[in-house]
Amino acid sequence: AAKTESGRRVRRFNVGMRREADERHQCILDLSSALEHDEFEMFYQPIVDLATLAPKGFEALLRWRHPTRGLLLPDYFIPAAESVGLMAPIGTAMFARICAQVRAWIDEGLDPGRVAVNLSANQFRNRALPDHILAELDAAGLTPARIEFEVPETVTLGRSGEAVVDTLSALRRAGFSIALDDFGTGHASLTHLRRLPVDVIKIDRSFIADMEHSAADRAIVHAVIALGRELGMSVLAEGIENEGQRASLHLLGCHLAQGYLFGHPMQAARAAEWMQRQAARLGAGSKVITFPA
Ligand code: C2E
Ligand code: MG
Ligand code: MG
Ligand code: MG
Repeated sequence: AAKTESGRRVRRFNVGMRREADERHQCILDLSSALEHDEFEMFYQPIVDLATLAPKGFEALLRWRHPTRGLLLPDYFIPAAESVGLMAPIGTAMFARICAQVRAWIDEGLDPGRVAVNLSANQFRNRALPDHILAELDAAGLTPARIEFEVPETVTLGRSGEAVVDTLSALRRAGFSIALDDFGTGHASLTHLRRLPVDVIKIDRSFIADMEHSAADRAIVHAVIALGRELGMSVLAEGIENEGQRASLHLLGCHLAQGYLFGHPMQAARAAEWMQRQAARLGAGSKVITFPA
């Protein structure tokens, strides 16, 4: 009986593995045609000043409108796209999309503030990345102060970390701001952090989620905020979902905030409505967003 049982377990394990591999294979096949079929879309999630709740900007977040599976989130398809090098062309196409959207909002009289764009490890392989980005920005009539680039802490630590840091420095010299994403998950040393050309540290959502119940997470968040202040960087807390988290982070002196409490990632049209509501809330005639100067 034991034999049969272990035999069955092995078989089930293999079937599961096989199904996962098939699904991944299908995902890659679908991905390769998704760009030409225009199935990718950007959603925009508000970023606010934690002290005043004034809008500061948005983070642009990728979505895949799959013809049969509906709206898919990045965690499902970005790892597969990365593994076959597809995040470079997708990133290029989406950056053009984001610039056009920001231009359109400005032309409608809205002020989206600064828009944060995630860069993937794939994109850093392209030495001409800063030039391409500048050309795209210019075509939309925007200045670098409009855009922030987010790079995960882990990407700056990887095998090609040095090259990544060089590219980030070039982007920063051109006037873009740089945010270190998912901070706290990559074990960057303080020495490493000090050498990074970074304006904003984004504390990973996992630390915010347990902050109210975990003294250790609270201590980490506190330390990161103090560190940011010492290094002259702004600190943003991501994944704020409730008032308790907001209040604690405010007490700790955190500058910027992003999370469902302030706004979910939204389609461009919904983001425009959000901007209008904020403008109304803050009073007609008052300048809603003071950035860029
Ligand atoms: P990220 O850059 O850390 O983005 C923040 C993620 O947290 C987003 O997930 C957002 O929807 C989610 N989030 C924001 N507030 C809350 C909250 O209050 N509660 C919870 N539970 N979640 C919240 P999303 O959109 O699924 O994106 C996941 C990751 O995929 C991103 O993490 C980023 O690493 C990557 N990604 C998204 N868009 C792009 C893109 O255009 N290019 C690249 N290279 N990566 C992207
Ligand atoms: Mg991000
Ligand atoms: Mg993040
Ligand atoms: Mg994250």
